[in-house]
Amino acid sequence: MTDRQARIVIIGGGAVGCSVAYHLARRGERDVLLVEKAALTHGATWHAAGLVGQLRGKRNLTRLMEDSVAVFDRLEAETGQAID
Ligand SMILES: Cc1cc2nc3c(=O)[nH]c(=O)nc-3n(C[C@H](O)[C@H](O)[C@H](O)COP(=O)(O)OP(=O)(O)OC[C@H]3O[C@@H](n4cnc5c(N)ncnc54)[C@H](O)[C@@H]3O)c2cc1C
Repeated sequence: MTDRQARIVIIGGGAVGCSVAYHLARRGERDVLLVEKAALTHGATWHAAGLVGQLRGKRNLTRLMEDSVAVFDRLEAETGQAID
């Protein structure tokens, strides 16, 4: 593989793109390329206040928010990268 091809290409290194790459890698996908035109978190993610709301109007959205808290809890141990 060269850096110009991959099985999965994600456009944009904001919270969503990075999250998709993380979850794919966690499921064992190794051929993932994340393309960012500026710098990671350069877009709206850079401006986020960091609030992680828990309750949503739909049950699945609430479960998604709960899962994001679980990700934050384990991310430093998994990656060695401090997130606070
Ligand atoms: C002031 C403010 C405060 C906020 N506070 C919160 C909060 O407290 N809690 C919360 O949950 N949400 C908050 N949000 C919302 C949150 O920031 C966004 O919902 C979230 O960051 C969106 O992530 P994203 O990955 O979809 O987009 P982005 O973070 O914008 O990422 C998109 C990325 O794609 C890149 N890109 C675009 N086009 C291309 C291309 N053609 N090729 C390569 N790369 C490309 C951009 O450079 C960018 O880095 C806030 C938003 C703002 C503006």
